[in-house]
Amino acid sequence: MSVVDRALPYVRAISPYQPGKPITELAREMGIPVEKIVKLASNENPLGMSPKARIAVEQAIAGLERYPDDFDLKKKLADRYALPQASVVLGNGSNDVLELVARSFLAPGASAVFSQHAFAVYPLATMSTGADLIAVPARDFGHDLDAMRAAIRPDTKIVWIANPNNPTGTFVPYDKLKAFLQAVPSDVVVVLDEAYNEYIPPAERLDTVSWLPQFPNLVITRTFSKIYGLAGLRIGYALASEAIAGLMNRVRQPFNCNNLALAAGCAALDDHQFVAESYELNRRGMAQILDGLKRLGLSHVPSHGNFIAFVVTDGAAINQRLLKQGVIVRPLGGYGMPNHLRVTIGTEAENARFLEVLAVALNG
Ligand SMILES: *Cc1c(COP(=O)(O)O)cnc(C)c1O
Repeated sequence: MSVVDRALPYVRAISPYQPGKPITELAREMGIPVEKIVKLASNENPLGMSPKARIAVEQAIAGLERYPDDFDLKKKLADRYALPQASVVLGNGSNDVLELVARSFLAPGASAVFSQHAFAVYPLATMSTGADLIAVPARDFGHDLDAMRAAIRPDTKIVWIANPNNPTGTFVPYDKLKAFLQAVPSDVVVVLDEAYNEYIPPAERLDTVSWLPQFPNLVITRTFSKIYGLAGLRIGYALASEAIAGLMNRVRQPFNCNNLALAAGCAALDDHQFVAESYELNRRGMAQILDGLKRLGLSHVPSHGNFIAFVVTDGAAINQRLLKQGVIVRPLGGYGMPNHLRVTIGTEAENARFLEVLAVALNG
């Protein structure tokens, strides 16, 4: 018996997360200069990071010999959402807090429900605990909440919901979401992943945090990786009842968020101008890309995020042609959508380059 044979069978069964191809990797592979490459593969902010966060990071370098103190960011978030600090859990990216929920509740013999085509981290977080993963067929590429409710078993402890969802961009209306929370047994945790919350038009956006007192089984997760432009620093958070947050803090690494990320998070949260500019750039870029896809005769899944999934005949082949021309998007074969590609909304110039190269790639 080899040492690997003795590893946990449910860990061996996991297929590893496939990240968007880094610019430097494509440069090495294809010999394309880094500055000629357009990466629209990981839903990063094309404006970069908040300038206020950049200054905060530069200042925080002075204290890197000290272990982090997460008080300020926790307090800022608690104040912003009018919650006790004990309801806030910080994570090394929101990915981290998703895993903390899984580790607090799941084990072999338990199960978690998620939707087909939903974010890849839910299967990863679930399977790494040995719990069963219940995948519910999507409806129009989005969450079918009635079917998800019906899929809950006596051993189900978590339901994962992304709103908007990545990679499809689909959005569940708030009234349906609330009805779902009312219908789900109160001893099942509902994780509402709102990584793209800030991209929802303000007129349509609803304050789901106000639901927390009514639903002690609700966990809301958000991130600084997307509209705040801090994906490389790794900082995100969960908002939940004090009871659930307390459990998550028990399994959390004591210093899971680093000094630079904590400082940047505090500053980014106050940079309303940067958030507004990022939102506006995305709104215009989405219109630009939708228009371009229409001209090319390609259909798409309507998106509420900073990215859009569109249909080509062969996602892997078109992706390869785009890569050769220095444009990185995300193939969705791993999400059971082999004919779709997902493109992140970039700057106007990046979007134009993507559409130009796509037109060429479609012609073979
Ligand atoms: C990008 C993303 C996250 C955030 O990941 P981080 O770990 O915070 O960088 C979470 N959920 C979804 C659905 C995402 O697309």
